[in-house]
Amino acid sequence: MEKIYLDHAATTPMRPEVLDAMLPYLKDRFGNPSSIHSFGREARKALDEARDKIAAIIGAGPDEIIFTSGGTEADNSAIKGIALARRDKGNHIITSSIEHHAVLDSCKALEKQGFKVTYLPVDQYGLVRPEDVRSAITDETILISIMHANNEVGTIEPIAEIARVAREKGVYFHTDAVQTVGQIPVNVEDLGVDMLSLSAHKFYGPKGVGALYVRKGVRALPFMHGGGQERGRRAGTENVPGIVGMAYALELAVKEMDENIKKVSGLRDALIRGVTERIDHVRVNGHPVKRLPGNASFCFEFVEGESILLNLDMKGIAGSSGSACTSGSLEPSHVLLAMGLPHEIAHGSLRLTLGRDNTMEQVRYVLDVLPEIISKLRSMSPFGRTAQ
Ligand SMILES: *Cc1c(COP(=O)(O)O)cnc(C)c1O
Repeated sequence: MEKIYLDHAATTPMRPEVLDAMLPYLKDRFGNPSSIHSFGREARKALDEARDKIAAIIGAGPDEIIFTSGGTEADNSAIKGIALARRDKGNHIITSSIEHHAVLDSCKALEKQGFKVTYLPVDQYGLVRPEDVRSAITDETILISIMHANNEVGTIEPIAEIARVAREKGVYFHTDAVQTVGQIPVNVEDLGVDMLSLSAHKFYGPKGVGALYVRKGVRALPFMHGGGQERGRRAGTENVPGIVGMAYALELAVKEMDENIKKVSGLRDALIRGVTERIDHVRVNGHPVKRLPGNASFCFEFVEGESILLNLDMKGIAGSSGSACTSGSLEPSHVLLAMGLPHEIAHGSLRLTLGRDNTMEQVRYVLDVLPEIISKLRSMSPFGRTAQ
């Protein structure tokens, strides 16, 4: 049976070209970039080139890029780093109720240390309103963190507008751009952000490597201590092969971006159209237009997301219910609840996220098997009868 991968928001397969670019740094170019000798210099050169490449792509300077172990570390460093550095300026942080747990749980950890956090609501499409951000700002506000696009429902937030509000009020602004870098155009100047998180494995690069952009002049305290790597902002020997792979993956993603957006959003639209035409009592989650090219998110009434996933998996289709981090728990997605969906409907969520290797044939196959799965589950469910 052919396997169909429709979970690109959780992770993407690494491109073979990216692996080829990394291999020399896992083999004979193994030097430590901090070493003085030729092995070290060779690794340093690769690191510098990767930094230049990534910086140029997002509109930053090379000294504004800090390499991290991924999106989670970038989010943690941004939020905790600013909180610690600006503690004497105030104790209030603003974020949204639909952030990734890397942001939400960093904020919760800070609440335990005496910080106050405002979790802004979103509208029915998952959009944060810039005017809500404005009215939440107080004299104590030291940081605003709002994601660029949501990983569950794909909604793209009005980041440039929100960043303008933050700048007007003199508050630092961080965005988790893990779902957008490499997928849609991202430029830190156009967005007007002070900090931005990205992660390689969401754009066909390796896992365990990412970066945090920190605008020049913005002081965040490091939370890894040790060697003086990354200009003293993140200690630890750099993941040279990973960083080389990340830079190359991003370069390829940007080169093919227009073509890819066209292809993937075409598949997404066909999938959404097909599902809503063939299945009753289904809602499409997220914004109709301000949405990631690959994201199709649904709620099927009278069924459980987990059961849909298991049945799809038996047919070779890999999707997800909510986010990878919440599946496995019985709590419905915090994102869907924040968008105002009732618990029982949020439980029936299915997220299918498309990528560069998916085809229209695969979408057709999903459209063939999904209606059968849903009607089978509904006929078995005690709630199903009320659907007839
Ligand atoms: C995947 C993801 C993260 C976490 O990134 P890792 O590199 O897996 O730690 C953070 N934020 C969002 C929006 C994500 O989609």
